[in-house]
Amino acid sequence: MKTERRSAIKKILASTTALVGLGPMAMAKNKEAETTPVAIPKKHDYFEELGITRVINAGATMTFLSGSLMMPETMEAINATAHDFADMYELQDKVGAKLAEMLHCEAAMVTSGAAAALVLGTAGIITGTDADKRKQLPNFPGPRPEVIMQKSHRYVFDQAITTTGAKIIEVEGPEEMEMAINKNTVMALFFNAAVSWFGTEDTIDHEAFVGICKRNNIPSFIDAAADVPPVENLFKYQKMGFDLVTFSGGKMIRGPQSTGLLFGRKDLIEAAKLNNSPHEAPLGRPMKVNKEEMFGMYAALKSYLERDHKKEWQDWLARAENIRSEIMGIQSVKGKIHVPDGPANVVPSLHVTWDSKQVRTTPKQVHEALKSGTPSIFCALGEKDGEALLSVGVVLLRPEQVAIVADRLKAVLRKAV
Ligand SMILES: *Cc1c(COP(=O)(O)O)cnc(C)c1O
Repeated sequence: MKTERRSAIKKILASTTALVGLGPMAMAKNKEAETTPVAIPKKHDYFEELGITRVINAGATMTFLSGSLMMPETMEAINATAHDFADMYELQDKVGAKLAEMLHCEAAMVTSGAAAALVLGTAGIITGTDADKRKQLPNFPGPRPEVIMQKSHRYVFDQAITTTGAKIIEVEGPEEMEMAINKNTVMALFFNAAVSWFGTEDTIDHEAFVGICKRNNIPSFIDAAADVPPVENLFKYQKMGFDLVTFSGGKMIRGPQSTGLLFGRKDLIEAAKLNNSPHEAPLGRPMKVNKEEMFGMYAALKSYLERDHKKEWQDWLARAENIRSEIMGIQSVKGKIHVPDGPANVVPSLHVTWDSKQVRTTPKQVHEALKSGTPSIFCALGEKDGEALLSVGVVLLRPEQVAIVADRLKAVLRKAV
């Protein structure tokens, strides 16, 4: 009798394990598993149900177009971890330790994006480990903490800095930077892609910037959110001596769009964590990262670092070449594979131009026609020597979408001949 029961229990256990092994769909059939999240049956089309247009992204990792598509490894991590609870302190610490190991730095954490990393990194620098100071943010008593930035680096995301109550002090050149440092200075921020965003030169280069910070004992922070590929950039800035570095998780690393990496000096990361959920953290609470996203960010970075980047680059070039050869037959149409100088968005795309007397349309009109067509395709618009051009991105396409983009583009251009 006893042995019978035991073997029955064993059987149940075995079948439960089997069910778990089979994944969430199998779990759904188990009556007791009703409250566990289950994978969505394929036939349930939420795009359709809500009337959402599916978009083919032949542009770049644009936030309004939902960033990038998560890697299968990211999705797997999300699905595989949704069925159990975890202690969020332990999860953030252990994921962070692994990320730091992968990124060759002291410490790391997952944030709800690079912008949140800017907020939390700055907040941590202001508060250190002081619980009272944490409660006071962003209304820190006394003079406002000051963050130094190059004037030419001011950008839309620096509001993340002032969200902490800090004030931005603009400087030009190394001397002005040295002179701006005073007892209220808490940090200096470097916007890595300022050169490519604004077409200006840095007035203080990376090395000089880090040097001044080190001499004056001011933490330096670099925003490199969109600056992979190349993969080497993930290691470059901490090696240069920046104390904090951020990258977006949801751009070319292809983690969840609502994730980011903040990494660098251990004491600063620990202080940043204290300003975020699940700590009693008034400032970071609205920037909570859920359990699955933490696992997802970890899986995405791992997969990104393990990828064959040379092969991926070759595949991208082949895609661009493929689209180019499709449209070349149309009179006056030219396609040129373009790789920006960087440091942001260094990926190949196809720049398409034509003589508007022969193909009677503008890049803007083609962009519009592709966008409002079926399927909806988003390209980007560019400019070279004052001439507008159509920029066809290839890196965010699913493989089978390359031909769709080529066909649609050909049809739209042909129609204007
Ligand atoms: C995208 C971007 C951000 C914001 O990143 P999120 O991960 O979307 O929060 C910040 N800085 C720069 C330079 C960016 O390109």
